[in-house]
Amino acid sequence: MGKFGSRSIAFRPKPTGTTHVAPKWRNAPFRFLDLPPELRHHIIEMVLLDAAPLHEDILHLFLTCQQIYAEAASLFYHHVCIQLRDDIHPLLIGSLTRVSARQHVQNLRIRFTMKESECFLDRLYGTTLSEMAEKGRLQHLRIEIGSCFPNDEFWGWDESYGYGDIRVGPGKGQVILAPLFVTKPWFQSFVGFLGDAKTVKVSLYVDAEDHDGFWCMFHRTHSSGEKCDGWWKGKSQALKIHRSSLVKTLRGAVLATPVQKEC
Ligand SMILES: [Zn+2]
Repeated sequence: MGKFGSRSIAFRPKPTGTTHVAPKWRNAPFRFLDLPPELRHHIIEMVLLDAAPLHEDILHLFLTCQQIYAEAASLFYHHVCIQLRDDIHPLLIGSLTRVSARQHVQNLRIRFTMKESECFLDRLYGTTLSEMAEKGRLQHLRIEIGSCFPNDEFWGWDESYGYGDIRVGPGKGQVILAPLFVTKPWFQSFVGFLGDAKTVKVSLYVDAEDHDGFWCMFHRTHSSGEKCDGWWKGKSQALKIHRSSLVKTLRGAVLATPVQKEC
């Protein structure tokens, strides 16, 4: 006999029509965790990604148990977009634990301006993002160095934020005119992360508008072959930077000549 039986329906016992005994499970509590993972995923997704989810529903879901928390968090934090301003974002603060939300982030998009962010870039790239890649689920990091770069406030004309001759490249035989911040520890930490991030796909973009000549040596050339010189001729709002080229050139950059002070 096959798995589902092969007897003709004519030979099956006729229902007595008197009593019907309900299966035992019918009165038992519904066990959500007995559902197949793909069904749980679908249900959790409906709760979290509903057009107007109730705050209480999300909270209850996250507080159910560790397993449901992990399944919900991997959906809820799958894509995260952060605009960094004067301080580091709460999601990126604190040590990484079993219930840290950021360990579930798979795709992270960070937008910041250098001037506003220098105070925490060292921490961010030295520890936080590396941990998210090594111990968490971070797979793709998109970094956008936003508008206001450069502007007079950022570049300034003082010792800290002016231009200078910088020794760069392997062996540091090449000298380029570059903003002085490229020699500072927080920027070098950023470059180090870009160079060492092996398990994460990192994409780096700068604002296409008025990005000055400094980024030009690292971004793609226009299809016309026309030189950019700080004023991008294309329609892109953001220019992709060749990460390997930036790392190769700027890692370990040092000041070549003392900065001239204006009298
Ligand atoms: Zn350019």
